[in-house]
Amino acid sequence: MCVLESRRRKNLVLLGATGSIGRNAIDVLRRFRGRFRLIGAAAHSNVEEMARLIGEFEVPRAAMFREDKAAELRAMLNGRCEVLAGTEGVATLAGDPEADTVISAIVGAAGLLPTLRAIESGKRVAIANKEPLVMAGAIMRAAADRHGAEILPIDSEHSAVFQAMRSGARGEVRRILLTASGGPFRDAGRETMARATAKEALNHPTWNMGAKITVDSATLMNKALEIIEAHWLFGAPYDAIEVVIHPQSIVHSMVEFRDGSVVAQMGLPDMRLPIQYALTYPDRLDGGLPPLTLDRMSSLDFMPPDRERFPSLDFAYEAGRRGGVAPAVLNAANEEAVKLFLAGKIGFLDIFDRIEDALRTLDINFAGGVEPSLDEILAADRWARERVASK
Ligand code: NAD
Ligand code: MG
Repeated sequence: MCVLESRRRKNLVLLGATGSIGRNAIDVLRRFRGRFRLIGAAAHSNVEEMARLIGEFEVPRAAMFREDKAAELRAMLNGRCEVLAGTEGVATLAGDPEADTVISAIVGAAGLLPTLRAIESGKRVAIANKEPLVMAGAIMRAAADRHGAEILPIDSEHSAVFQAMRSGARGEVRRILLTASGGPFRDAGRETMARATAKEALNHPTWNMGAKITVDSATLMNKALEIIEAHWLFGAPYDAIEVVIHPQSIVHSMVEFRDGSVVAQMGLPDMRLPIQYALTYPDRLDGGLPPLTLDRMSSLDFMPPDRERFPSLDFAYEAGRRGGVAPAVLNAANEEAVKLFLAGKIGFLDIFDRIEDALRTLDINFAGGVEPSLDEILAADRWARERVASK
């Protein structure tokens, strides 16, 4: 019975199937067809790619965020796959009673309700979509405890921390050191940053990712969000989470234990490895991914971040320590500012100004206290977006 159980293929739902993480996850699934069955896939609007994926993996159920695209996909598939629509459709898929594991890889706050549904359904939730954790980390953690869900990180830094944490007990951890490549403007002067175009910001030195997170990497807002993400994933106080610039992106993060030992996890900058680990944990399997060779390790540099040029890190510490809806405001202001920047409506440095303005104008009493409800968090998210868009 036990043996049969452990050999059953795990049922998987993939949210954000057409994105950068989604495609990497599909590559991992192709390597482990005997271990996982894709029973659901969700995306925003790319019906062609979804139809191909559904055909290849014989996916029985899908969801498109856009209703018109759901209708289009239904027509294309001619009854071969049930297609749900809208946020509720995506959330229904995330809570599929048949699913063992849900990969949360939608970008931004749009992933909050589906990810929460997966947690409330008691699943293993492999989270790439960090924004919901930033917005509502306390609610997600409490829901995971209540419903016996397992939250595992896909974000490479947090996967590294998660792996390094296995070297000691939680109470023995002194510091978490999150590494950051520094992005395309690591050594740029303020004038260069002020003039930076979307094309320049999208030119990441080491990682190939979706547009929003690539801009976040250029502003270090990605690392800022990751500080708050680490706080919720590992229950670490903000004083114990630090950021280190490491341009080669080979050391994915480190954990310092109280005896002074620092345990690092290394690998190529390739998201397939942390995705695979979140899916197969606690096992380690050979998926045939390219190995880390010595030439990539010949020089590894580490330096402190420039907090003057990149105020994002201090925004995160401030919002995180303040708690309540402040992290949700930080996240929403950033999402909205990045949209404006990508549309050519504001400059690169304006992203910092818009976020700072939202954090400064956030009334301390906005939407109730230190433990806001989901509705209060969503209201704060809307408020911050309006504030940023109307400046
Ligand atoms: P992406 O833009 O490439 O893909 C986003 C995916 O989400 C797409 O499949 C899109 O269709 C889907 N989507 C967007 N809005 C949706 C909605 N309302 N409903 C349903 N689906 C929707 O983004 P990405 O780079 O893959 O990043 C996804 C998440 O993973 C982000 O939160 C990012 O911070 C995180 N992450 C990404 C990487 C990476 O290497 N790309 C690394 C670490 C963490
Ligand atoms: Mg990361």
